[in-house]
Amino acid sequence: MPILEPAIETLDRKQLERLQLERLQALFERMRDGNDFCRERFGSSAAPRTLADLPALPFTKKSDLRDAYPLKMLQVPIEQLARIHASSGTSGVPTIGPYTKRDLEIFADVNARSLASGGAQPGDLFQVSWGYGLFTGGLGMHGGAERLGACVIPASSGNTARQMQLLETLPIAGIGCTPSYAVLLAERFESEGRRPLALRYLIAGAEAWTPQMRDDIERRLGVTATNIYGLTEIIGPGVAQECPEAKNGLHIQEDHFLPEIIDPATLEPVPDGTRGELVITTLTREAMPVLRYRTGDLTSIRREKCSCGRTTARMAWVTGRVDDMLVIRGINVFPTAIEELLLGFADLTPNYQIIVERPPNGLDELRVEIEHRSAEDGIDHRALETRVATKLAEFLLVSLTIDIKPPGTLTRVEAGKAKRVDDRR
Ligand SMILES: [Zn+2]
Repeated sequence: MPILEPAIETLDRKQLERLQLERLQALFERMRDGNDFCRERFGSSAAPRTLADLPALPFTKKSDLRDAYPLKMLQVPIEQLARIHASSGTSGVPTIGPYTKRDLEIFADVNARSLASGGAQPGDLFQVSWGYGLFTGGLGMHGGAERLGACVIPASSGNTARQMQLLETLPIAGIGCTPSYAVLLAERFESEGRRPLALRYLIAGAEAWTPQMRDDIERRLGVTATNIYGLTEIIGPGVAQECPEAKNGLHIQEDHFLPEIIDPATLEPVPDGTRGELVITTLTREAMPVLRYRTGDLTSIRREKCSCGRTTARMAWVTGRVDDMLVIRGINVFPTAIEELLLGFADLTPNYQIIVERPPNGLDELRVEIEHRSAEDGIDHRALETRVATKLAEFLLVSLTIDIKPPGTLTRVEAGKAKRVDDRR
């Protein structure tokens, strides 16, 4: 796939790091004097002289954003804002994502780069099946597709019959959606014996998923599927995007987002290639930049040049969030690890639900419901259930039960994000 901005995306790493340092220093000065909230937090910190000074600066945590709700961290007069997005907060306080006009330009730029990397070209019909609204996904990808010169079909989420009709009748080349919605579309097309007219590529994100699920989506929809990463606190989608050439990590748009990986327990930086928590500094955001934001996402980064030609750092597929980790009888279990193992069984579909219960007599129970591919009556699932449970227990080090159901039994999410875990404790 052509690289949209080679001057940045293939920039020599020394030059890239020089650019990052200049931007970091300017950001630090701007933030320190920008508002009382930041002055109080970083007022006494020394300005970074090199990128190696970054770990001396304080982290920003999700709880800091809650404390700063709604706009205590704003760095510009409110009249300079051009848009506000928000993400739902687990404790009832949403995270506010304010943008200046310049921030929206950057948002469009990084999404345009991401779409180009995923296979999009100017002139393509591109269907955005992420939700439009406070969620950053729909409008974020919309802006990127327009910036690239594509023709956008703002389908938003839900209304699958209409989405399929559009995909079947218009020469739509690409679609952006959640991975669970991609699976739902694949199933519906298969079960109705229909297919998209001209779909070539699919860009999915906003949920934790795995390369195994990506391969399944590719095979069933006959597309090239890639992973896009982002979060409201940073900008929305477009922070990083997988390249189909290497399919070996997501390129971080490093001229705007400076990544670090830390050990979430000690908070110390870890070497490249080691898994830890992703921390991002927004180098260019105007409205509400964040310094060393702890994303909670577990991944690793590598910085050698990619076979696609890009020199930007690549992050591995997120294996889970620090918050999503389930602790079952003292053992740490990530939902994505369960998904990866389940999809190793050819007879199972990517529709699954993880249920954790605490019975009155004590020990936590882990159960996974998953659908069989075949709808034939009279299949005895017990042997397969035992095999799957044994394999998972071997890798996860925790015993569990597997409940295999006929296809189409589990609830599908048509709008919003799939909820894979039902923790009833
Ligand atoms: Zn690459």
